[in-house]
Amino acid sequence: MPSTDPRYANSRVAFATAKRLMPGGVNSPARAFGAVGGEPLFIDHAEGAYLYDVDGNRYIDYIGSWGPMILGHAYPAVVQGVQQAVARGASFGAPTEAESELAQLIIEMVPSIERVRLVSSGTEAAMSAIRLARGYTGRDRIIKFAGNYHGHVDSLLVAAGSSAATLGQPNSPGVTAGTAADTLVLPYNDPAALAQAFAKYGNEIAAVAFEPVCGNMGVIVPSAEFLAALQTIPRTHGALLLCDEVMTGFRLAPGGAQERLGIEPDLTTLGKIVGGGLPVGAYGGKSEVMAHVLPEGPVFQAGTLSGNPLATAAGAATLRALRETNPYPRLEAIGQRFAEGLAAAAQAAGVPHVVQSIGSMVTLFFHKGPVRSWDDAAQCDTALFGRFFWAMLDRGVYLPCSQYEACFLSAAHSDADLDHTISAAHEALAEAVAA
Ligand code: PMP
Repeated sequence: MPSTDPRYANSRVAFATAKRLMPGGVNSPARAFGAVGGEPLFIDHAEGAYLYDVDGNRYIDYIGSWGPMILGHAYPAVVQGVQQAVARGASFGAPTEAESELAQLIIEMVPSIERVRLVSSGTEAAMSAIRLARGYTGRDRIIKFAGNYHGHVDSLLVAAGSSAATLGQPNSPGVTAGTAADTLVLPYNDPAALAQAFAKYGNEIAAVAFEPVCGNMGVIVPSAEFLAALQTIPRTHGALLLCDEVMTGFRLAPGGAQERLGIEPDLTTLGKIVGGGLPVGAYGGKSEVMAHVLPEGPVFQAGTLSGNPLATAAGAATLRALRETNPYPRLEAIGQRFAEGLAAAAQAAGVPHVVQSIGSMVTLFFHKGPVRSWDDAAQCDTALFGRFFWAMLDRGVYLPCSQYEACFLSAAHSDADLDHTISAAHEALAEAVAA
């Protein structure tokens, strides 16, 4: 692993410098490799399916910047779009036609979005959508599900250990008990818990926020019963359904999980792919609800760099390319091959496991499965995952550095990349089990 191996010497030096300058040496905690016990690689550049670190090592990348790089890194049309945009000026703080172009693409592609507001991250999208839901309904409480992540919004940075409906407890210092108290945390995939929460607090709940396919505790596809409950119970009580498609949007289908699974939310949040690797988020939905956003309505939300020309150029180039090249059949095929290959490797190594996947999102859980909620996910063998992660990295495969993440495949992954990855998984699992 990097703390001793000469192959990672430059990354080690870069990390020592970064740690003096930034908390933990990083600008976002997941990338610090903390969950797998070691030091992170520092990346020099990326192209197609590959990351190149500062020591000149090449890796087949299954993070794709945690989702955005569905076309692969440095995709020519995206690079060109950003280059042309920056030459015309990086930011104006005034409206541009490029914003309308990206908005139009989003509205055409995502079934439930009639109007949209562009922001700069998934967190900002979630924060704004929650405020809008509260402003629109005049209610304070929100529901989220344990193990679902919606960014580091105070009111959503809450999880509960219990499988019963509980009033939220903050899980970060700095989130006040008062803020957390308006968040009800329920178990994912549990229609009865949702019904109970609405029976008790129904007329106080502004919105139910959920991941339509969970990626943030590993991949969990919701049951049909859970999706049906989500689409009926909140509406009966006048609450909005807020579908967080930051991870799934434009990935599981051109119109995201809502198109694929037939979900009809009131509000949708987007991030990652919508910006093609640049900082973009978006929230949108029914025109009547969006009409409550300032300056049309009273709900405040603003951003100096919202709809920034570079970001909108990268986002629009990405969405246009997805429509023009239709990579979805290929993403389905390689996702399935990757999932089957990992399952075969785990089977051969004789470890309890389940591979859960949908399209180009895949997780190998070290748990006999099925994994349906956070209570299940929490039982995974995370130490084994850590050994597997490093053994894969040693073989040139860069997986997400936690058991509780999805691997993201891109249109740039070749059959040869998959062959290498699957044979590496056989070796790596044998090594991880023996260690
Ligand atoms: N929602 C979901 C479902 C996410 O996966 C993430 C990020 N992983 C976010 C929201 C937050 O997005 P960002 O990191 O851009 O703030």
